[in-house]
Amino acid sequence: MRLLLLAAPGGGKGTQGERLASHFGVRHISSGDVLRAAAGDGSPAGREVAAHQQRGDLVPDQIVFDLLVPVVAAAAARGGYILDGFPRTVPQAITAADIGARLDLTLDATIYLHVPEPVLVQRLLARARPDDSPDVIRHRLEVFTETTSPLIEYYRNRGILVEVDADQPPESITDEIVSRLPES
Ligand code: ADP
Repeated sequence: MRLLLLAAPGGGKGTQGERLASHFGVRHISSGDVLRAAAGDGSPAGREVAAHQQRGDLVPDQIVFDLLVPVVAAAAARGGYILDGFPRTVPQAITAADIGARLDLTLDATIYLHVPEPVLVQRLLARARPDDSPDVIRHRLEVFTETTSPLIEYYRNRGILVEVDADQPPESITDEIVSRLPES
C-alpha cells in the first residue's frame, strides 16, 4: 500500500499517518519529522532546514529530495508507505512522479483530509509545537493555500484523489479512508 496524505497544517496527517501505517503494516513517513530530525544534526543542510521551518517556509527542494527519497525507497522495498507532507507542491509532485516511475515507487492513492480553517487554527494553537506560534501558523496556512492546495487538483486530474471529511473523530476518518481506497 502506497498512500500520500494531503492536508493543511492541523489537518490530521500525523494522526491518520500513524493509524493507516499500523492498519496496513507499512511505514509512516512524515516529511516534517524527517526534516526536524535533520534540523538538529548540526550539518549545513540541517541549519538550512531549521531556518526554513522556524519561519514556516518550505525547505528547498534539493534538501527535501536528498533526505526523503532514500527513506521512501527503503519503505517501498518493505511493502509500502504512508507519506505525510511530501510531495507538498506541484513541482515536487512532478519530480517525485518521475523518480517514482524510475524506482517503481508510484502512489496508489492520495487522500485529502478536508478540515474547515477555524478548526485547523484551534487544533494548531492547542498543539503548541515550537513552529506553532500564531504568526507562524498563519503563514503556514497561507503557504498551504498557495503552494500545496493545487496538489488537490493535480491528483484529482490523475484520477487517484480520495477526499474525506476530516472534521470527525480519528477512528471514523480512518474507517472512511480504508473503505474508500481502490482495490489493490
Ligand atoms: P504541518 O503539516 O503541520 O505543516 P509538517 O510537520 O508536515 O507540519 O511540516 C512542518 C514544516 O516542515 C513545514 O512548515 C516546512 O518548513 C517543512 N516541510 C515539511 N515537508 C516539506 C516538503 N515536502 N517540502 C518543503 N518543506 C517541507
